[in-house]
Amino acid sequence: MFDRVGAIFLDRDGVINQNRIDHVKSWEDFEFVPGALESIRGLTETGLPIFVVTNQAIINRGHITVETLDDIHDRMLKAIRGAGGEVTKVYYCPHDNHEKCGCRKPEAGMLLQAAEEFGLDLTRSFIVGDAWTDVAAGQAVGAQGILVMTGRGRWNFVSCWNRFGLDFSAACDLEDAVLMIKESLRGNPMASTARLRNAFHMALHPETSLVL
Ligand SMILES: [Mg+2]
Ligand SMILES: [Zn+2]
Repeated sequence: MFDRVGAIFLDRDGVINQNRIDHVKSWEDFEFVPGALESIRGLTETGLPIFVVTNQAIINRGHITVETLDDIHDRMLKAIRGAGGEVTKVYYCPHDNHEKCGCRKPEAGMLLQAAEEFGLDLTRSFIVGDAWTDVAAGQAVGAQGILVMTGRGRWNFVSCWNRFGLDFSAACDLEDAVLMIKESLRGNPMASTARLRNAFHMALHPETSLVL
C-alpha cells in the first residue's frame, strides 16, 4: 500500500522574501529574507516536497500580469536551486477577497490542489507563514501551522493566539521553523526553539539581554 507523504508549504511574502506594503510587482521588488535560501536548502534535505502557496490578489486587481508573476517565480526558483534547494511547485491565488474563491488563504484550496496533484498526506504536512491566514489554511486540512516573526508575523501573533490557542507554533524566521520541522519529523514535539524563547524574553524584558 502506497504511503502518502507529507509536504512542506511555504507562504511567500514575509517568509521567503521581504513583505512590501506596496506588494512585489517586479523582480526588482523581490528581496530574499536573510537566511531564507539556506533554510530552503535545509528543508530540501528532509526529502519532503516543498510547495509555495501565495495569495496574489494584485493579479485580479490589475497591478501585475500573470507573465510578470511567473517571471518572478522563475527567478525565485532559479535562486533557490542555485543555493541547493528545490521547490516542487508554486501555487498562487489571483483572486481578490470579494471573489470568494476557494484558494485564497485562509481557504485551503491551494493545499488541496497540491495534495491531489502529488498524492500528499496533508495531516503529515506543515505550513510556514507570517499571517494567521496561513496558519488557518493549514488547520483546515490538519496540517501543522508555524507562524514566523518575519514579515507581518509579529502583528499576527495575537490573532493566531486568539483563533488557535495552543494549536499553532511560532518561530523567529524560516531558519527557526526548519529546526522545528526537523525536530517534529524525528518524532519530537514541535516546541519553540531556544532562539524564539530568547526573542520573546528580550521583547518582554528589553533591559536584559540574558540568553535563556
Ligand atoms: Mg505572507
Ligand atoms: Zn483564489
